[in-house]
Amino acid sequence: MLRIGCHLSSAKGFHAMGKTAVSIQANTFQFFTRNPRGTRAKEIKEEDVKAFLKLAEKEDITPVLAHAPYILNACSKDEALRKVARETMEDDLKRMEYIPGNFYNFHPGCHVGQGVETGISQIAAMLNEILKPGQHTTMLLETMAGKGSEIGGRFEELREILDRVKEKDRAGVCLDTCHVWDGGYDIAGGLDKVVWEFDQVIGLDRLKAIHLNDSMNPLGSRKDRHARIGEGRIGYEALARVVTHPALRKLPFYLETPNELEGYAKEIAMMREAAV
Ligand code: FE
Ligand code: FE
Ligand code: ZN
Repeated sequence: MLRIGCHLSSAKGFHAMGKTAVSIQANTFQFFTRNPRGTRAKEIKEEDVKAFLKLAEKEDITPVLAHAPYILNACSKDEALRKVARETMEDDLKRMEYIPGNFYNFHPGCHVGQGVETGISQIAAMLNEILKPGQHTTMLLETMAGKGSEIGGRFEELREILDRVKEKDRAGVCLDTCHVWDGGYDIAGGLDKVVWEFDQVIGLDRLKAIHLNDSMNPLGSRKDRHARIGEGRIGYEALARVVTHPALRKLPFYLETPNELEGYAKEIAMMREAAV
């Protein structure tokens, strides 16, 4: 069965997210570990986690995807900001141990004039500091649109980072369909070729999750503006091919489209229809 969910608000805790997921026929979901623009963490309540784990088991909700605040920049020019990124993600990984066996996704970062090579080495250095044996979370680097000095707009850049990570089993990739499209990978006109290229450069065994979004802009626009499924330039047919592709269909899919719950429920139903 298709494994699909959407981004949910974490304001009311894990159990509430689980119940919301069930109510829209989702069997997974994504959430921000803290205010996406800030860094303050929400307190974790053991009772809430316990209730969630029980519900997740009963309703088969797995794997959940935590998303780091996008303000963090592991390759900032400013050492103090790199430290904030490292300490925040380190703390998030500790908190993720309450819900072991899930994913933690982050935007690799913007090198802001330092150059791609310096950026890549700073990101890898951070991962090597915070990823430790015995952790139960897989950290995912998100494919980016390549806007500004963003790292991760090319598969080669993610490969470079992963190559330098010592805890190989603790690191993987989350592919965002809007981002790769905006980055110039034609998933609408040539999905097989993009999948093949991902495999050649990074390896499909490192691909752990997919952000399923349409894009408001044309191929290669490097804009990163998400659209609802079927209302953007990628289109429903192409996204249906993504969720049914033999190399991708077993992965978990997470919608990050501009929607309220009702819209998400509709999109989940649309994608389930495609995957029958
Ligand atoms: Fe993201
Ligand atoms: Fe995304
Ligand atoms: Zn995006």
